[in-house]
Amino acid sequence: MLDNLTNRLSRVVKTLRGEARLTEANTQEILREVRMALLEADVALPVVRDFVAKVKEKALGEEVVGSLTPGQALVGVVHSELTALMGGDLGPYAAELSLAQQPPAIVLMAGLQGAGKTTTTGKLARWLREGLHTHEGRKTGKKKVLVVSADVYRPAAIEQLRTVAAQAGVDFLPSNTEQSPEEIARNALEHARRYHYDVLLVDTAGRLGVDEAMMREISALHALLKPIETLFVVDAMQGQDAVNVAKAFNDALPLTGVVLTKLDGDSRGGAALSVRHVTGRPVKFVGVSEKLTGLEPFHPERMAQRILG
Ligand code: GDP
Repeated sequence: MLDNLTNRLSRVVKTLRGEARLTEANTQEILREVRMALLEADVALPVVRDFVAKVKEKALGEEVVGSLTPGQALVGVVHSELTALMGGDLGPYAAELSLAQQPPAIVLMAGLQGAGKTTTTGKLARWLREGLHTHEGRKTGKKKVLVVSADVYRPAAIEQLRTVAAQAGVDFLPSNTEQSPEEIARNALEHARRYHYDVLLVDTAGRLGVDEAMMREISALHALLKPIETLFVVDAMQGQDAVNVAKAFNDALPLTGVVLTKLDGDSRGGAALSVRHVTGRPVKFVGVSEKLTGLEPFHPERMAQRILG
């Protein structure tokens, strides 16, 4: 088991008793521990560097109030800064999906193959169909949901979405590998309008790695569909690589939010910080199981705690 950050810091903190201010000297050792903890949580190195620099800048010269030792004060700064960076500074409703559009509201799902796009499409479809909400008092009401797959490379992906849609209790619009992604998107849009769907979720093809053809294809889909939400789905287990993948998708598409999947694994979730840092977009949901019920709204504070260990 990794020694958790709180334990490690409390050892360092003991050596700092009696000092009244955070200084270059007394913060150095603590920041080294913070840096280690973030790297162990798989936060990408440039993101760790930026974060530690920011914390240092905030902390230096800070008066240590009351019974707090400089060490405890610094841990406080680390926690609040991490929570803010994870989206705590965006206000309580940052995790809401925005669907306030002349129906159908369109949600485009983007991400690498295996990230969990199709599963997440099913989870979101169920979420919207049942009218679940992220905050008490902000009920959105039950939605009439249509899902479609624009993955023209893998017939199995289309079938997988059909299965998932049936489990979620929403309508599935068949598509096939003879069609172009644009043709599928146009059909789906027309179908959703004609039959008065509230929300159209569009699952897209993923590749094993980022490639230009894939980015061109999804950009074209975006231009055609003009989605109100473009969600980047990323596997929390992806660790350090998440930062490059997020950058490529963010450059190609105006993302509106992130879904971090497979948080039920043993990853510490450092990818959340990396992806937020690169895209500037809020993590809206997390995936916590393979089942369609395994979707939760994102909580910045819980995530900060998990990353720090
Ligand atoms: P896609 O290629 O991006 O559409 O990915 P899939 O939706 O097919 O998911 C790939 C694999 O990850 C499948 O075996 C899913 O069951 C699994 N998966 C997706 N989301 C989660 C999650 O939140 N937790 C766990 N444990 N597995 C997940």
